Amino acid sequence: MQAWVIGNWKQNPATNSAVNALLDDLLTKVNTEEQANSQVSKNRCKLMVAPSCVHLSTVSTRLADSSILCAAQDVSTYSASTGAYTGDCSAQQIADAGATWTLLGHSERRQYHKESHKCLISKLSHAFSQKLGVVFCIGETQEQYDNGQTLDVINEQLSVIKDLLTQQPDLASSLSEKLLIAYEPVWAIGTGKVPTVAEVSKTHQYIKQTVAGFADITDTITVLYGGSVNAENANSFAADAMIDGALVGGASLKAESFLAIADAF
Ligand code: PGA
Repeated sequence: MQAWVIGNWKQNPATNSAVNALLDDLLTKVNTEEQANSQVSKNRCKLMVAPSCVHLSTVSTRLADSSILCAAQDVSTYSASTGAYTGDCSAQQIADAGATWTLLGHSERRQYHKESHKCLISKLSHAFSQKLGVVFCIGETQEQYDNGQTLDVINEQLSVIKDLLTQQPDLASSLSEKLLIAYEPVWAIGTGKVPTVAEVSKTHQYIKQTVAGFADITDTITVLYGGSVNAENANSFAADAMIDGALVGGASLKAESFLAIADAF
């Protein structure tokens, strides 16, 4: 199965020049790795970065000739194209800016923007309508983890996919190509705390089985782990057959650590 390592830059870097400096570093290192015939160059690990909306055009233009894909971090709920939605960026605008994927349902958006089940169905539908691939983020809070509710929470969050497929059954045939699931326990994001590999593996197995049960999905869905992944712990996650890659926040802001994680997968 194709492994993926995705950098979620969140609301970073602060300036256009810092974005360009990060890209300089990333592209130089990737080219060197490619010349050295590393795993990335053998296409065993697909790389993607998700800059803020305001940097999308810069990043997608600079990555156009590279093997690295560009994703947005969100799309507007209200319209796939244009409209009176101040502050929003639509899936169409994001695709036009050169992104081919978007993150959706990240826990920071669920927490700060109160993204609901209905809103996430709408975002997924808009993204797919504009031919964007979706990295759908799910995961339990510390309290839910402590109460042993992880799989129940995951099941509830995955029901967004189930309900979307009920509305648009034709999406099922391309789902395994257009949808990646990122399992990110909220308590592991940016904290340095991580679940055990066995815990992640069990949850990923559950996610794969659950999504397969929604429709006639022949290929297994790709499931990435996210939450305090770094160059030191990436190998242990990569060694597990259920873990198909990583969604990386903090460690993706340095080319060296991001590529070290990619090389682990
Ligand atoms: P982190 O963030 O790697 O900094 O924990 C991951 C994420 O939020 O996607």
